[in-house]
Amino acid sequence: MSTPAAVLAARELLCDLTPLKTDCGRLCAGACCKGDDATGMLLFPGEDALYEDCAFGRVLPAEFSLGGEEAKLFVCSGTCKRENRPLACRLFPLFLKFKEDGTTKLRLDARARAVCPLCDYGIRALDSEFKQAARKAYDLLLEDARCAAYLRELDEAFTL
Ligand code: SF4
Ligand code: SF4
Repeated sequence: MSTPAAVLAARELLCDLTPLKTDCGRLCAGACCKGDDATGMLLFPGEDALYEDCAFGRVLPAEFSLGGEEAKLFVCSGTCKRENRPLACRLFPLFLKFKEDGTTKLRLDARARAVCPLCDYGIRALDSEFKQAARKAYDLLLEDARCAAYLRELDEAFTL
């Protein structure tokens, strides 16, 4: 299936932005890029089509579904060009939380706490331009039924 326009637009919004204005990877030696063969980043719906012939990683089935589709993981070699990052890497360490009234809120991803030193300082410490772009990206994704279903189930599945 092709990559939804909302995923492409969200990726573009976050193409040049990172959690801090400075290179936060220098704080942690790029901890969030140091997975192994068993770990990977979840791809958004249809994003796997962008990595079919990828030189720096591969797509694997996650063996569970999200939003009614088989979820896919991207397992990388640990280095990539910024413009090639999966959307989950661009949004990290942010997460979209659904509230009981149906509205949503940006939060730090609870799964990031074990990895990312920025989490010790709270969401306020992240660059406001990055957070605004992430909010816009999530808003675009929520307008796409496939991505909205994915995000809602991701929240349900991974809320600790
Ligand atoms: S783990 Fe956090 S501080 Fe380190 S590179 Fe990733 S986002 Fe930046
Ligand atoms: S795909 Fe790129 S940004 Fe994402 S974890 Fe791998 S090296 Fe890091």
